[in-house]
Amino acid sequence: MTRIAIVSAMQEELAAVLALMQEQQKQTVAGRDFWLGELHGREVVVVLSRIGKVAAATTATVLIERFGVQSLVFTGVAGGLHPSVQLGDVVVVAEFLQHDMDASPLFPRYEVPLTGASRFATHTGLSQQLTVAVRGALPTVRVHSGLVISGDRFVSTKLASDTLRDNLPDALAVEMEGAAIAQVCVDYGVAFAAVRTISDRADDDAHSDFTTFVQTTASPYSAAIVAALLKS
Ligand code: SAH
Repeated sequence: MTRIAIVSAMQEELAAVLALMQEQQKQTVAGRDFWLGELHGREVVVVLSRIGKVAAATTATVLIERFGVQSLVFTGVAGGLHPSVQLGDVVVVAEFLQHDMDASPLFPRYEVPLTGASRFATHTGLSQQLTVAVRGALPTVRVHSGLVISGDRFVSTKLASDTLRDNLPDALAVEMEGAAIAQVCVDYGVAFAAVRTISDRADDDAHSDFTTFVQTTASPYSAAIVAALLKS
């Protein structure tokens, strides 16, 4: 049975998952602690990616090269962009785009140079399993599926989120890691799925909403979703 990677954006989420793990063993690579062990009967490696696209890409590369993972699941929080995506909703990501990638006029805006692509799809089967897990773990929560955009910026003004909405009207949410991991996983042919709980609306209240949400809701959601996925 191949090892599955569980990647979290925040210490609180990592702690909630680690607490359930059995006989975990730590290996430190590139300054990160990778926790190997068993969770709900599955071989897993659990790691905190840290924040931003470079940190996320490094983490994904180590998981694949050093730990040989064939599937990777990210669980974290994001700012809601689409009018239908509200605080406490959950988004299972269908595709990712880097909203701060712009090598125009050499390449079309958002296209990752020399790949011919701006959108990187997640793995259909693993994402379906993740959706089933979310619905099972959190039956009263609204679940969306679609485009999530990533960039090296905490989007925390109405002006900034209006601009993103105008330019990318189908974007459901914004965060800082997913598109980087998606690109690495496409390069290696590794299955990737991601789930993001909406912690804020990427507006002028984003900072205070984010802080409260992370403390009260993000970790229990994450632990419940991961448990439901691994048991399935
Ligand atoms: N830890 C810091 C800030 C974290 S940055 C603090 O406590 O203030 C926000 C993290 O949550 C990133 O990992 C990002 O992926 C996600 N995120 C949540 N809301 C976001 C938003 N409005 N814009 C960008 N990223 C967001």
